[in-house]
Amino acid sequence: MRAVVTGGAGFLGSHLCDRLLERDYEVVCLDNLLTGNTSNIAHLMGHSNFKFIKYNVIDYLFVEGPVDAVLHFASPASPIDYLEMPIQTLKVGSLGTHKALGLAKEKKARFLLASTSEVYGDPLVNPQPETYWGNVNPIGPRGVYDEAKRFAEAITMAYRRYHKMDARIARIFNTYGPRMRPNDGRVVSNFIVQALGGSPLTIYGNGSQTRSFCYVSDLIGGILSLLAAPPSNEMGQPFNIGNPEERTVRDLATKILALAGSSSPVVYQELPVDDPHVRCPDIRRAKSILGWRPEVSIDEGLQLTIDYFRGVAS
Ligand code: UDP
Repeated sequence: MRAVVTGGAGFLGSHLCDRLLERDYEVVCLDNLLTGNTSNIAHLMGHSNFKFIKYNVIDYLFVEGPVDAVLHFASPASPIDYLEMPIQTLKVGSLGTHKALGLAKEKKARFLLASTSEVYGDPLVNPQPETYWGNVNPIGPRGVYDEAKRFAEAITMAYRRYHKMDARIARIFNTYGPRMRPNDGRVVSNFIVQALGGSPLTIYGNGSQTRSFCYVSDLIGGILSLLAAPPSNEMGQPFNIGNPEERTVRDLATKILALAGSSSPVVYQELPVDDPHVRCPDIRRAKSILGWRPEVSIDEGLQLTIDYFRGVAS
């Protein structure tokens, strides 16, 4: 089996490349290294089944030879990144998804879109089932990511229906783990770097907003289950992939301080515009159809991530 992973040098993309190689896939990894980094795939360079091509997937995509699966993971994915790179974010979600679908169609490959819980915006329903249509502000600063991914879902479904393609959608909820960038800007990496460095943990707003954090190995397990499931009409529905254990940002800060053995104080800063108040995946669909569920506890996952950041810093 041969897979193309766009964004393969990113946080999730690189873990996905690892796991596909473990399953004896040949992997073609495409990344323009805007937020991805070759350090995430350095250990794969020279692997006989792995090929890295520095490429911007908004350009016409040509990959030689047969391809069985296209996994479209390219995109800035941290709020600070898509606020800094709004046009690139819109382009990779729209033009990039179009090109990735075109490649999958040409190769008669299975397509898997890395979509996001951000399609639910600031949800008025909690937890969010896949049937919820969301509450997105299209013209707010986060809209560039949310709407790009909503467009990406729409064009994926159009290709599925019109071209009868085997195209699938994973809605990925907050994920953390090794290979997050120390300056990524997301809450888990920020808090860990701050706790280890002895600087204050920056809680945005009053910290009562909630998120549900999934450890990266669980997340990739869910993606691979979705990729491997036999074709059926059910595969034409999006799948929430995430950990349904919901907690406040304040609680996350307390947990990270304890696990890191840190006595950093916390400081309160302004809440970013349109920051969702709650977020929690309803994963009943993934559980019943894919037989997948997350297994790594928050304490275990955070400890592994803290150990990783300790190693990066030393
Ligand atoms: N957040 C925070 N401090 C930080 C970074 C983020 O309190 O240093 C908050 C942020 O406002 C949001 C939550 O943590 O409510 C998760 O933010 P993140 O950027 O990780 O991802 P999001 O779920 O917003 O995409």
